[in-house]
Amino acid sequence: MRIGLGVDFHPFAKDRPLYLGGIKIDYPEGLAGHSDADVLTHAICDAILGAAGLEDIGKHFPDDDRRFKDISSLKLLEEVIRMVEAKGYRIINIDAVIIADRPRLGPYYQAMRHKISAVSGIPIEAISIKAKRTEGLGLIGEGKGIAAIANALIEEK
Ligand code: MG
Repeated sequence: MRIGLGVDFHPFAKDRPLYLGGIKIDYPEGLAGHSDADVLTHAICDAILGAAGLEDIGKHFPDDDRRFKDISSLKLLEEVIRMVEAKGYRIINIDAVIIADRPRLGPYYQAMRHKISAVSGIPIEAISIKAKRTEGLGLIGEGKGIAAIANALIEEK
């Protein structure tokens, strides 16, 4: 078995939709980024890649490549799953934390888990998603952006 860790940050941006875990969140601001800036899905991708020793999404999907402009990060996750499975691994479970003081994300956990499961083929019981607030501390507490951290455990098939 192998474990991987992924971390990502994106600043808020006006006139962008907010996507987290592939779900559109009802909020007046989105996140800035080359893709859809889905910070949670990016952290999950990096955790899975890291576990398999396949570097990170910046290496596979560079942000100066127009193919990935505004792309759904679920497409990147699909490709990450394909790469890791091609290397002979199966994902055991994912545990992720979104760090955001706003918006409130509890009502979206189930939809995010369903979406990630549907795209990745990982059983929903093996996908944990939750959020933490910083209680006003730091840049996230000031409402400047959202961060996410994820672990992935994989094993040889
Ligand atoms: Mg990112």
